[in-house]
Amino acid sequence: MTEIFPLPDESEETVGHRADAVVVGAGIAGLSTGLFLRRRTGGRIVVIDSGTPGCGASGHGSGIIRVHNSDLDEMLLAESGARVFRNWTEVIGGADVFSRRGVLWLVGTGDVETLTRNVRAQKTLGLSAELLGPRDVAVLVPGIRVGDLGGAAYDPDGGTVIGPDVMNALAVQALAEGVELRTFEPVRRLLTRGGAVAGVETDAGVVDAPTVVVAAGAWTRNVLLTAGVDLPIQAVRATIGTVYAPPSLREAPAVFDEVNDASYVPKQNGTAVISARARRTPWPP
Ligand SMILES: Cc1cc2nc3c(=O)[nH]c(=O)nc-3n(C[C@H](O)[C@H](O)[C@H](O)COP(=O)(O)OP(=O)(O)OC[C@H]3O[C@@H](n4cnc5c(N)ncnc54)[C@H](O)[C@@H]3O)c2cc1C
Repeated sequence: MTEIFPLPDESEETVGHRADAVVVGAGIAGLSTGLFLRRRTGGRIVVIDSGTPGCGASGHGSGIIRVHNSDLDEMLLAESGARVFRNWTEVIGGADVFSRRGVLWLVGTGDVETLTRNVRAQKTLGLSAELLGPRDVAVLVPGIRVGDLGGAAYDPDGGTVIGPDVMNALAVQALAEGVELRTFEPVRRLLTRGGAVAGVETDAGVVDAPTVVVAAGAWTRNVLLTAGVDLPIQAVRATIGTVYAPPSLREAPAVFDEVNDASYVPKQNGTAVISARARRTPWPP
């Protein structure tokens, strides 16, 4: 790689400008990377966000923690993530953030065969999964209409989290363990020296680091472009809303409905997040 943005002269730098690693973005990916880097290396780890922890997708998602998928590798990856949420206090620290209410993945009659295959694969991996028929689903979700339903994959160990709570808990833990968190400080560009990334430049100045992790979510492409790397990430805008959950559905599993391209995600605070993926549009437009 060519030296696109050379660092300022060495003599201009101070120790305060140096870190062992810089993480760009304080979403779930960036903050957890920062926390585990700190635990493993004990070094000076700086996490920088243009806003606050969780101001991106991590604080605005539906919060479904599920493992069921059509891809084996993704199932294993999802399981290792879900294990963190299920054992939050031991793995991260602080109070539990996870509600184990189960997750249902609903499909139409034409997709039952594929669903059956995926559930079987999930079980082969030793992961909890059940194949349910429409009547079973109607018992788990009072009032649901199952007329056009073929079947469902049920993750009994799946559940929900509240995004902003997770991000607050993670930020508190990361700070307590010595991660340096800098907010409202956009990273303007990656710095390179001798063909390697050597730090970042923010509105507040330069941070020199031999390791830079770009975890800027939907903005990752823009950040990488400043070092001449074009990673073809295409973001989409999704529409979700929060409602008060009807009392009869407060304890129900989270439901992802492939038939109607929608989801219903009850939360431990009496609300529910509803979504309709049909309205997804490329972002930026
Ligand atoms: C509507 C919706 C529903 C979802 N539902 C689920 C779900 O049910 N289950 C599930 O597992 N996942 C869900 N997701 C996906 C999940 O939210 C994301 O995969 C996850 O939050 C991505 O985390 P991240 O840390 O990569 O990105 P983000 O949380 O977006 O974090 C990126 C951070 O980088 C910062 N940043 C950007 N540019 C810069 C810069 N130049 N300098 C400094 N900081 C910068 C941003 O401010 C932001 O805080 C959903 C997402 C959406 C949008």
